[in-house]
Amino acid sequence: MGQAIYPKMAVVGCGLIGSSVIRAARQAGAVGEVAVADAKPEHRARIADLGLADTVTGDIAEAVRDADLVVFAVPVLAMGEAMKAAAPALKPGVTVTDVGSVKGSVAEALQEAAPEGVFVIPGHPIAGTEQSGPDAGFPELFQNRWLILTPQERDDAPYREAVARLTAFWTALGSNVEQMDVRHHDLVLAVTSHLPHLIAYNIVGTAADLEGVTQAEVMKYSAGGFRDFTRIAASDPTMWRDVFLTNREAVLEILGRFTEDLQALSRAIRWGEGDKLFELFSRTREIRRGVIAAGQETPEPNFGRDHRQP
Ligand code: NAP
Repeated sequence: MGQAIYPKMAVVGCGLIGSSVIRAARQAGAVGEVAVADAKPEHRARIADLGLADTVTGDIAEAVRDADLVVFAVPVLAMGEAMKAAAPALKPGVTVTDVGSVKGSVAEALQEAAPEGVFVIPGHPIAGTEQSGPDAGFPELFQNRWLILTPQERDDAPYREAVARLTAFWTALGSNVEQMDVRHHDLVLAVTSHLPHLIAYNIVGTAADLEGVTQAEVMKYSAGGFRDFTRIAASDPTMWRDVFLTNREAVLEILGRFTEDLQALSRAIRWGEGDKLFELFSRTREIRRGVIAAGQETPEPNFGRDHRQP
C-alpha cells in the first residue's frame, strides 16, 4: 500500500457517513492518523469500542489540530457552528470539506468561518442509507457512487492542487467524482432526493392518519409500494429537517411543478383518460430502466442496505 493521501484526517460528526468515510479511507490506505470529534457521549464510547479512530473527543478544536483533511459530517444546520469551533485550531494549508446533502448554505457557512490559508471544498457523496450512528457505517458505501464537489470559483494553483488531492481521496474510496456549481447541485438534488423524501414522509403520514383504515391494516397489508416508502420515511429526522430548511427555494420550486403534474393526473383519473395514464407509466418505466443502465441500482441484494439514498 502506498503513502497516505492525507497523513492526518479529522472527522467531525461520526455517524453513518462520517464512520463510513473513516472505514473506507482506512481500508484504502488513504489516511494515516484519524481523529474524531462527536457531540454524543454514547457515540464517542462506541467509536472507541469499534477502534475507528486514534483519538476520540467531544472537542472539535482538539480533533482538527494538525489535521491535513477535515471532514464535517454533522447535520447541515450544525455545519457553521462546527466550523467556527474548528477555525482557531486549523493549520494553514488544510483542506476542509463536508458531506452535507445541501451545498448552498453549507458552502457559505464553511467559507464564512474559514481562516486565511484554508482550502474549503464542499462535497456531497450520493450514497447513504436510512440508518444513523457509527454502527451503521460500512467501508463499501461509496463504491461506484457519485461524489459531487462544489469548489469555490478561484483558480489559483494551490487551490486547484487541493481540489485534485481531494478528488484523489474520494476516488481511492471508490467514488466517481464530479464537480458542480452549488446552485445546480441543490436543484438537481431537490428533484432526485429531497422531493422523493418529502413525498415518502407525506404518504406514510397520510396513511397513518387515515380514519377508517387501522394502523394494524396499514402494517399488515404493506404492499411493495408503501413498504418502500416507509423505508425512506424512516430516515433521520434531524438530517431531513435541516435539508428542507436549507434547500427551501429549490424544493419549493420542484414541489410546485410536482403539484401541477399531480393535479393533471388527478384529472386524468377523474375523466377516465386511460391513455394519458398509460403514456406516463410507460415513460416512467423507461426512466427506471435508464437508472439501472446507469449503474445506480444493483439487482442483487446488497446486505439488505440501500447504497444510493443521499
Ligand atoms: P448521523 O448518523 O446522525 O451522524 C451525525 C453525527 O454527528 C452524530 O453522531 C451526531 O450526534 C453528531 N453531531 C451532531 N451535531 C454535532 C456537532 N455540532 N458536533 C459534533 N458532532 C455532532 O448522520 P449522517 O446520516 O451520517 O449524516 C451526516 C451528514 O451527511 C448530514 O449533513 C447529511 O445531510 C449528510 N448525508 C447523509 C446521507 C444519508 O443517507 N444519511 C447521505 C449523504 C449525505 P447526535 O446523534 O447527538 O446528533
